Amino acid sequence: MIDAYPHKDTIKELFEADDPLSQGLSSRGFVIAEKSFANYPFTPMSVSSQLMCEYYSDNENLAWSVIRGGKSNVVRTFMKNGYNIYLNVGKISNSASLHETLLNMLSQTILTSVVKLSHFVQYLEPIDIVQFIRDRNSGGSNFVYAHFFQVHDNAVTDERGKIVTHEFEMVLDDNRSHFMKSIKDFSQKFLALIDEIRLRDKSAVVLVNSDHGLPVFIGNDFSRKDFLFMKNARHGELIQLWFKTAICAIKKVKDGGMSDIWKYRQKNFVGVFVPVDSDNLKNSVKASEFANPISNINLFRVLFSHLGIKNLPKISDEVFVSTLAAKKGGHAEFKLIKAPYIRDSLYKNGNKNKK
Ligand SMILES: [Zn+2]
Repeated sequence: MIDAYPHKDTIKELFEADDPLSQGLSSRGFVIAEKSFANYPFTPMSVSSQLMCEYYSDNENLAWSVIRGGKSNVVRTFMKNGYNIYLNVGKISNSASLHETLLNMLSQTILTSVVKLSHFVQYLEPIDIVQFIRDRNSGGSNFVYAHFFQVHDNAVTDERGKIVTHEFEMVLDDNRSHFMKSIKDFSQKFLALIDEIRLRDKSAVVLVNSDHGLPVFIGNDFSRKDFLFMKNARHGELIQLWFKTAICAIKKVKDGGMSDIWKYRQKNFVGVFVPVDSDNLKNSVKASEFANPISNINLFRVLFSHLGIKNLPKISDEVFVSTLAAKKGGHAEFKLIKAPYIRDSLYKNGNKNKK
């Protein structure tokens, strides 16, 4: 899971560049989903619902801690089939501890991004997973989940996870090059991890995806006045502006218009590698599922059925938007609204690329 990694269309439109991750993975035999999207705009909901393979219902008020109560279909399924489970290289013994670990990890991220403590944070690095793979010599089946935040935070890190450069975590007009730098830097390190996996385990199935796309302040949703304001705005003010704009943009899309803020946010990254020699798994995955629009909720459903370890039929791909971040008892609460009009607008207008 590469937090906030954008869809290649977004990289093309915002940075006028090719996505180094899509290219690198394609050349290594991955199938890259052309029309992938996230079901939720925020990490905790997106990650936990993906691991549950279930939606949170609409009009539900969610606290961040909702993931604690979630039951992970993914973890239970792998466990039932005899897999060892590793989350960010720590072995866990049951799905309750998965949710505890996930909660801690996510609250730390949220805390650091809100309080701006990220200069003190040690990031999980692809090299950590490489090391983990090298150190493990037992066989058996393993499910390894790793969650990286460098791209989300626009941080370029060294191999120990220390920040080398760090710009503002929202894409603005004048920091585009910094974002491209962090995307390139991270992709390079990530592809080295993929090479290690392929070297060590030819039968490994690898799913690479992001919980949502880039948080941006560029595009048709923002006025000239917004841009001037953003230059000197503080972090909290920017978050407020993002929410205000996002709400206006929902209305705009509902009325048949288009919105960059939602497009860039919901269009995410999905790439999958399945070994070619396992009954043409790759071809069937490519042909049947990943060529069509697909969202995070269905990724493990599709993989499980291809692996033959659980029959979870695909469900409808939906987008839920949250319009409210109120504080209640110290928790941020989100009101979720099912937004088919946002979902349908994501790939409707095709590529606007001039190049
Ligand atoms: Zn995220």
